[in-house]
Amino acid sequence: MKSILTIPRRTQNRLRRLAWLALALAGLLMAAPAGAEPPPFGMPFAGQPGPDTWLLSQAYGNTSGAYRQRNSTYRLGQGIHFGIDISAACGTTVVAIGDGVVAAVDGPYGSAPHNLMINHPNGYASLYGHLLERPRIAVGTRVERGQPVALSGDPDETCYSRPHLHLEIRDLTYRRAFNPIPLIDADWDNLTLAGGFGRNFQRDLDDPRRWQDLEDQPDIVFGGTIINNFARTWPPSFPNTPALGR
Ligand SMILES: [Zn+2]
Repeated sequence: MKSILTIPRRTQNRLRRLAWLALALAGLLMAAPAGAEPPPFGMPFAGQPGPDTWLLSQAYGNTSGAYRQRNSTYRLGQGIHFGIDISAACGTTVVAIGDGVVAAVDGPYGSAPHNLMINHPNGYASLYGHLLERPRIAVGTRVERGQPVALSGDPDETCYSRPHLHLEIRDLTYRRAFNPIPLIDADWDNLTLAGGFGRNFQRDLDDPRRWQDLEDQPDIVFGGTIINNFARTWPPSFPNTPALGR
C-alpha cells in the first residue's frame, strides 16, 4: 500500500496549495451572509426616533387592537392591521421611503383625512395616511428616497387624541398589502421597546405560535375573508368595538 510519503514532492505542494485555496474560498463564502442586500426602503420620517420625534406605535399584522376591530375598521384588510403606525406630532415632515412617482393624492385608499400613494420601480407602492392636509405635490411628480412629501396628522383631526402616520406597502395593483417591517431598513428591535402596542399580538390558542412576532405576519388581499376569527383566543374576546380611523 502506498503511503502519502511516496507522492512526489511537487504533487504534494500542489495538493497543499489546492487545500489552502479551498479553505480560503470556503471562508469567503461563509463570511458573506446570505441575502446581504439591505431592505429596499427607508423610514417615512427623517432623523432619529424618540419621544420628541417619532416612535412606532402599532405593528403590521395580527395586533390585539386590530383583532378587536376585525369586523369594522380592519374588515377590508382581512381583519389585521395592514400597515404600521408611527406616532408623531401633527405637522411632522413625512418623507418618501424610496425613489418613485406620486401616483395618487387623496386617492380612494382610506386612511382619512388625507393620503398619498407613491409607486416604486421595484414593484411596490407606499401609502402615507392620516395626513394633516392634502399633500402639496402633484400626481406624476418624481420623488427620491428621503424627500419631504407630506405632513403627518391625526385620524381624529384633533392633533391631540392619537396623532400618527399610517404607512402601508402594497403591490402596484394596490390589492395586496405586505408587512413593511422586513422591507424597511430600521432597527426594529429597538423601535419596539417603546409603546404598548408594538409587540402585542392576538393569540390563536389553537395555533399559539403563529403571527406572534414582528416579522411573521401574513400578507393580505383587500376585500378577502377575515383571517383572525379565532375560536379560542388571548387576550379574551370582547364584543367588537366600534370603528375608529385606522
Ligand atoms: Zn394604522
